[in-house]
Amino acid sequence: MAEYDLIVIGAGSGGVACARRAGARGARAAICEEVRVGGTCVLRGCVPKKLLVYAAHAADDIADAAGYGWSVPAPSFDWARLIRNKNAELDRLNAIYEKMLADAAVPVLRGRATLIDARTVEVAGERHRAERILIATGARAWTPDIPGAGRAIDSDRALDLEALPKRMTIVGGGYIAVEFAGIFSKLGVEVTIVIRGDRLLRGFDADVARHLEDEMRRDGVDIRKGRRVAAIRDSGGVPVVETDDGAARETDCVFFALGRVPNTRGMGLEEAGVRLRENGAVAVDEALRSSAPSIYAIGDCTDRRNLTPVAIAEGRALAETWFNDNPRTVDYENIATAVFSRPPIGAVGLTEDEARRAYGKVAVYRSSFRPMKNTLSGNPGRALMKLVVDAATDRVVGCHLIGPDAPEIVQGVAIALKCGATKARFDDTMAIHPTAAEELVTMYEPVAGAAEQAARTPDRVASR
Ligand code: NDP
Repeated sequence: MAEYDLIVIGAGSGGVACARRAGARGARAAICEEVRVGGTCVLRGCVPKKLLVYAAHAADDIADAAGYGWSVPAPSFDWARLIRNKNAELDRLNAIYEKMLADAAVPVLRGRATLIDARTVEVAGERHRAERILIATGARAWTPDIPGAGRAIDSDRALDLEALPKRMTIVGGGYIAVEFAGIFSKLGVEVTIVIRGDRLLRGFDADVARHLEDEMRRDGVDIRKGRRVAAIRDSGGVPVVETDDGAARETDCVFFALGRVPNTRGMGLEEAGVRLRENGAVAVDEALRSSAPSIYAIGDCTDRRNLTPVAIAEGRALAETWFNDNPRTVDYENIATAVFSRPPIGAVGLTEDEARRAYGKVAVYRSSFRPMKNTLSGNPGRALMKLVVDAATDRVVGCHLIGPDAPEIVQGVAIALKCGATKARFDDTMAIHPTAAEELVTMYEPVAGAAEQAARTPDRVASR
């Protein structure tokens, strides 16, 4: 039986980050993977999704070009070519990940891993022992238990559709739903979104969610609120979506984007003494240790902040702590996030609603404008920027952006929030003109009545 200092289960972003660093620090580390090295982000999530977002964005650039003097022949779009090119890029990234592991002398144990006990892992019939085991198995799309659910696709399949459907019904209104709605609608699919609640992107600032909804509707996405999908019926080969309000609509493709569940079942975790939360997530303490002292967990399988950079930071922190005599923990404060919807969103810190609950009195600064690029092009798209400030300390506690380049802009703002910047420091900062981002340092007057608006549309309501 092979002996290791560390066995990582799951070669996604977090697992690879930890295993590589462990190997580079001289530890005997191995990583188990049952599919391909790369994980959700690289192979089935962030990266391929963003490539499709660029494809959709190209349609805007082509349309906008006329206002800038270009005559562009009627464009045509080839989905199969896009998917081929995207898959070639994923192959390239997969090879890079494989090489990074090889360079760090970390063997990949190929196959599904199961725990025999708290220090023994079995992969492809062979047993391996380790001082520590790290669970980094990620999550997968959740499918509701309704008649005909098997007719629906999830984000994995959406990234590899053989052909674009004419009509698509996306169920859910979170990150994945709005991102794919933007991609497919821009590529010519008639997209309908069905949500159970009354707003998109619960957990995001209400103004931003409202702005996104307006822009998506203007872009042709049909958003149906306050209903749940009860069944997907087959009508002569065509899916029919039945909702709990009694309505039935034909569509060509149903896409569930209803959240994700941790990949933790059926691998011997509980038998090895690892406590799972009700939704299957590995329960971990501040040191990312599970209830079994030799077993740790990071990333989406712990269902905390389900974002790639968080999993990577967790993996690195553990490797540094264990193998470089450099105890590290992850700071979960002010984690910026982006939604690659159309228009895209960048956000960091508290929403207005959260800030009111946390601080009582807050000042809100908001600017809604038409980006300069949209003037000559005639593109009607608008942008919104919002700062939420703790009135007592003048500290900026939230920044919410929606519009072109919002994800690029918010990264810098996240640094300012991390440094505890006050609104006065934002105002002291010289604007860069002409940019959209200059709004962030030129919003001098707080918005009146923001509290009343936030009260009407809370950022957080019920959960599943
Ligand atoms: P989200 O949690 O973002 O959204 C889930 C959606 O499904 C919500 O609209 C929710 O409605 C709805 N929903 C949940 N349960 C039910 C139910 N039983 N019936 C009807 N509707 C339901 O999940 P996603 O699948 O969109 O994304 C999963 C995670 O992946 C994200 O939370 C994020 O962590 C990560 N991700 C990050 C991205 C990024 O960083 N850009 C991109 C894509 C994914 P309600 O609001 O009413 O609860």
